[in-house]
Amino acid sequence: MSPTKVIAIPVLGRHAVNAYPLLGRQPIIVDAGTPGSGRLMHDQVASHGVDPKDVRLIVVTHGHIDHFGSAAELSRLTGAPIAGHIADLGIYRAGRVSEPYLPNGLLGRLFARTSMVRETAEPFEPDVLIRGETHLSDFGVEARIMPTPGHTAGSVSVLTDDGDLVAGDLVATPLMGFVKGRPANPPFHDDRLANLASLREMLALGPTKLHVGHGTPLDPERVGHWAAAEQRRLDRLMARGHLRTKAEAAA
Ligand SMILES: [Zn+2]
Ligand SMILES: [Zn+2]
Repeated sequence: MSPTKVIAIPVLGRHAVNAYPLLGRQPIIVDAGTPGSGRLMHDQVASHGVDPKDVRLIVVTHGHIDHFGSAAELSRLTGAPIAGHIADLGIYRAGRVSEPYLPNGLLGRLFARTSMVRETAEPFEPDVLIRGETHLSDFGVEARIMPTPGHTAGSVSVLTDDGDLVAGDLVATPLMGFVKGRPANPPFHDDRLANLASLREMLALGPTKLHVGHGTPLDPERVGHWAAAEQRRLDRLMARGHLRTKAEAAA
């Protein structure tokens, strides 16, 4: 069994928004960048010696525009089908996120006021609808899609059999990757407690490295310490009745 190589391709900035080609027996791509970056991603994949026509699957980790924005375009350019979780299907079909976003701290509150959160992307119908843990060996890669709900209901991560976890927005680095190596929340989580539970479940599987949508790779041990502190913080907020989920905010 050949090891799976995880490559980061920058879609925006140096690590502000990443997508991840996974090279096993055949290549797949995890996440599809912001709208209008399909050609850029196609060329970046090619620059790593991969024929884009060989890409077997595009996995979108969740229904936020910076992760599925160019899925339809990239699918046309490569001929690869798109996989997305059924719980974010409405977003993929609409090409936009249903508001409200639930901000995490100041950065999230600033983001929530920008037009970026109301941006739209080309809608698509996932060719592969994810409903649970899904092994990708049929697509040429020894890895599993793992449902990791919380950031959005349909968030997924991809865990290779070698231990690389491509984690989407399960965790990030501060200021969209500006600070390296340090774990932080991305600007939004629909359900912070559920997201943290998903993150801790993934850490319990013993990944060797976390590859995130925003920022440089993270060390699982460091993320574990951060997650334990975050759990205590959320438990305190919860006890004071200050923790709402997106569903509660919309009610
Ligand atoms: Zn997100
Ligand atoms: Zn994101």
